[in-house]
Amino acid sequence: MAAITCLVKRTPSLSSPVARAFFSTNSHPAREDRNVQWVFLGSPGVGKGTYASRLCTLLGVPHIATGDLVRNELSSNGPLSSQLSEIVNQGKLVSDEIIINLLSKRLAAREANGESGFILDGFPRTMKQAEILEGVTDIDLVVNLKLQEEVLLAKCLGRRICSQCGKNFNVASLNIKGENGRPGVTMAPLFPPEHCMSKLITRSDDTEVVIKERLRIYNETSRPVEEFYRSRGKLLEFDLPGGIPESWPKLLHALNLDDYEEKQSAAA
Ligand code: AMP
Repeated sequence: MAAITCLVKRTPSLSSPVARAFFSTNSHPAREDRNVQWVFLGSPGVGKGTYASRLCTLLGVPHIATGDLVRNELSSNGPLSSQLSEIVNQGKLVSDEIIINLLSKRLAAREANGESGFILDGFPRTMKQAEILEGVTDIDLVVNLKLQEEVLLAKCLGRRICSQCGKNFNVASLNIKGENGRPGVTMAPLFPPEHCMSKLITRSDDTEVVIKERLRIYNETSRPVEEFYRSRGKLLEFDLPGGIPESWPKLLHALNLDDYEEKQSAAA
């Protein structure tokens, strides 16, 4: 833990755990010689996990979600479990030290798994995390998914997870009217298949009080991260026009990937 604490306090250096994990396979390969290195930003409930994981399947890169790393650590009943459960159940952020430690371990596993490239989901969430990441690797693109808060709250309340396969579903049927020049949003529920139905659980941090706290913390602590990437010309703003059927093709178009999906299925 001492090394991680130093990492967070000092300017990132190549001897840090995160840097070693990033560079263990190939230090700074040219962008055209490697897979994408993207980040997904956005408020809780916006759908980062859904769209990032679909894109990862399409592009053949790992989907690295720090929220999943935290939940895995929680369910492992390891030494950090009780501390993490208190933080997560209050909607607070885990310390930069712990998150970087969990992320470093996941990145170090990339070599053994034969993975290259990544889409990071839920990281960075603080300016410190953004600065550390910037110091250790090249991020090509940061996608900022956006939805109005009323929709975010309803989506989090409707979220269900299959306790067996880990997939996300949503039982909410949303029809929110547009106001102040913003278009309305309609989203059909995303029901699970029959075999997941009896295994659905609700995340312990998806209660109204905790969601509101997570949204408050996002606006206060994570919003500046958007500006960090905007000022570097890396931020792609994407207003979700509705549920997956409406949003997915538009997102692929915004990423210049509209033909990619067809080419991949033709090649399969
Ligand atoms: P998520 O699934 O992304 O909503 O994350 C669930 C919880 O894990 C968050 O509410 C935080 O407590 C914690 N967490 C995930 N990613 C981070 C991060 N980058 N920094 C701090 N805490 C995080």
